[in-house]
Amino acid sequence: MADAGKTGDVNISERSTAPKAPTVEIPASLSVKQLAELLRITPIEAIKQLMRSGIMANINQVIDYKLAAAIAKSFGYTPKPKPKITKGLGTAREIKRQIKKEEKRGGLQPRPPVVTIMGHVDHGKTKLLDAIRQSNVVDTEAGGITQHIGAYQVEVNGKKITFLDTPGHEAFTAMRARGAQITDIAVLVVAADDGVQPQTLEAIAHAKAAGVPIIVAINKIDKPEANPDLVKQQLAEAELLVEEWGGDVISLPVSAKEKRGISELLENILLVAEMEELKGNPLQPAVGVVIEAQLDKFKGPLATVLIQNGTLKLGDTMVVGTTWGRVKAMFNDLGKQVKKADPATPVEVLGLSEVPGVGDILTGVADEARARVLIQKRQAQTKQAKALRLDTFYDQIKTGQVKELNIILKTDVQGSIEPIRTSLERLSTEVVKVSIIHASTGNINENDVMLSIASNALIIGFNAGVEPGARMLADTKGIDIRNYDIIYTIVDDVQKALQGLLEPVVVEVVEGRAEIRVVFPAAKAAKVAGSYVTEGTVKRNAQVRVLRKNKVVAESTVGSLRRFKEDVKEVAAGFECGMGLKDFHDFQEGDILEFFRKEKSSQS
Ligand code: GDP
Repeated sequence: MADAGKTGDVNISERSTAPKAPTVEIPASLSVKQLAELLRITPIEAIKQLMRSGIMANINQVIDYKLAAAIAKSFGYTPKPKPKITKGLGTAREIKRQIKKEEKRGGLQPRPPVVTIMGHVDHGKTKLLDAIRQSNVVDTEAGGITQHIGAYQVEVNGKKITFLDTPGHEAFTAMRARGAQITDIAVLVVAADDGVQPQTLEAIAHAKAAGVPIIVAINKIDKPEANPDLVKQQLAEAELLVEEWGGDVISLPVSAKEKRGISELLENILLVAEMEELKGNPLQPAVGVVIEAQLDKFKGPLATVLIQNGTLKLGDTMVVGTTWGRVKAMFNDLGKQVKKADPATPVEVLGLSEVPGVGDILTGVADEARARVLIQKRQAQTKQAKALRLDTFYDQIKTGQVKELNIILKTDVQGSIEPIRTSLERLSTEVVKVSIIHASTGNINENDVMLSIASNALIIGFNAGVEPGARMLADTKGIDIRNYDIIYTIVDDVQKALQGLLEPVVVEVVEGRAEIRVVFPAAKAAKVAGSYVTEGTVKRNAQVRVLRKNKVVAESTVGSLRRFKEDVKEVAAGFECGMGLKDFHDFQEGDILEFFRKEKSSQS
């Protein structure tokens, strides 16, 4: 919660005049760091508070007034909008600004809502998306074959609705983590026979944090064990009050399987959309977000872009993320060529020079020269966002990029947390503060990695396992996960990192495996392992580990390697060979040999 000392400081000056909370002027959008400065708190305190509201934000992430104001309030301030709008950064901001301008000029038109389906796994998100699509595809010309482009449109009573057809809040969060908010309405699917589940709660938290209205679709009502009332009660317990519970959240019974309740759901989406007064200006140059991207063997880079405002036309010059191109062709969700795409329309775009990333922002520009300028600006922004690593931390301290070493600590038992926390926090210097921003027991999971991305922290495990999903995410994002089994080593490593003395991490790469099928005696006491290579390759001089019943019995090096009495340099999987190990001859038939090399991990 609020740092009592800091908010207290502000209160003291106010106290003599009035005991009310100090006001703070907050711009329409600002970065977490700027907000922290305004509130005289550390960025970590701001990030933690955002996380309590279910938002993963990093220090440089831009948040809007509403969110910033809520954070300000929680730190004891009275927020007020700053009169002048600061320069927008994220698309949501860009679009809002554009729309404000257009409102004055009167160029605005209603646009279709963009809807995301969220909910717990197996509650029927995919089936519902299919049912909606089958029942109401925008049937402009008969014979269109539905294509999966990441989104589709349906038409209800002459009005369009755009559905993002990647179900789940992971996609939603990933977009938000990149500063893009594309969803106007979230449909929360809850299976009537299973009720509110962990991912239901997560979805609610994400939608609420994003300020997106929720419509609940209580699915699977065809099932005899369906209990919609219980679902509503559970939702109320989760602080999502449906109309019957005195709230304003619409809930509807549906059966995706029997296609029941679909048109009511669509009509209610339109109703909520109307209340939201969604608008766009088709006369502007386009702004959009990439929702899918791939390299097509024949067509080249393809990106599905959801146009958020403006219109994208054939021949337009566009910057997408840090790549650019001219629109050569566009296809809608029926695979039909189209000449233009207006607000809230998903469209597959051909003509980019490279495959962009999901979440990248498309901006229509006047010409190539402007495209280059914009790309340079975006490249500069991405360079700043470099993940924190312990082995390169010192360089970041030196260049003044970081002043805090944030750590997420996972341990096997509760008792280890405090001693590690105190020993690490004690290492703080005047230049760098070491803070444990989150500590808990259990394996390192994806949420820990998400938190580390959002808060630029590294993850330290103490006798903690790493879940495979977490490992994958960490690897792709360059997040540093370090595992230890001795407290002293953790402290020593962090201390060395603070002084720039830490050696780079050495990782082990397994190159192959073999099974010992027969053991031959050789010269003197030596033996040869007649082996069959089961995976990868074995190389002479490779490091090897001898495993017996999954236990390591020795580590050595491959001394000699032969096939049919000929010395060879390497043997691939599927072949037999004979090998001698340096200084180890006690191997047995059935032992597994694992060949590996050690290398410095990449630090980029
Ligand atoms: P998702 O993981 O949320 O995308 O769930 P799916 O759409 O894959 O559905 C999970 C399972 O529930 C599938 O076996 C569906 O056939 C089934 N299912 C989905 N909707 C309904 C429904 O309305 N009634 C019944 N009885 N089964 C459904």
